[in-house]
Amino acid sequence: MAYDQENIFAKILRGEIPAHKIYEDEHTYAFLDVFPQTKGHALVIPKTPSENILTAEPETLGVLMITVQKICRAAMEAFQADGITLQQFNQPAGGQTVFHTHVHILPRFNDVPLGSHNGNMEVNEILIEMAEAYKAVLSK
Ligand code: AMP
Repeated sequence: MAYDQENIFAKILRGEIPAHKIYEDEHTYAFLDVFPQTKGHALVIPKTPSENILTAEPETLGVLMITVQKICRAAMEAFQADGITLQQFNQPAGGQTVFHTHVHILPRFNDVPLGSHNGNMEVNEILIEMAEAYKAVLSK
C-alpha cells in the first residue's frame, strides 16, 4: 500500500484540518483522538510519512516512542491516571483505519473498562479541557 498524502493525519500535519494539539517537536506531533475511548485519549504521530510500523524507518519509530513516553508521563499527571494502555494498529486486518503511523495513548483508571468508539465525536469544550490539562503539564 502506498502512502496516501490525503489521509486525515497528513492533513492535520499540514494544518489543513484542525486538531487539538497537545505537543509538537521537530519529529513528532501529538493530539487528542476526537472519538476518545478514555479521558485523555491521545494520538502520537511521526512527521515523516509512513503507513504504519511495517513500513516506517526504525529511526522514525525511535523518535516516535520518545514522544509516546513523554505523553504517557504527562497523562498520568494531568488526569491522575492509574495506568496507561498503548494501542497500535497495522493494516485493515490489524484494525488500522488511518494509514499514517500512530500510537494510541489511553490513560486508564482503576476499575474503569476501556470505552468503545460510539460513533459520536466528543464535544469540543471537553476536548479543549483535556488538551489544556496536557499542555499545563507539558509546559512545566
Ligand atoms: P486507527 O484505528 O488506529 O487507525 O485509529 C485512527 C484513530 O483516529 C481513531 O481512534 C479515530 O477516532 C481517530 N480519528 C479519526 N479522525 C480524527 C481526527 N480528525 N482527529 C483526531 N482523531 C481522529
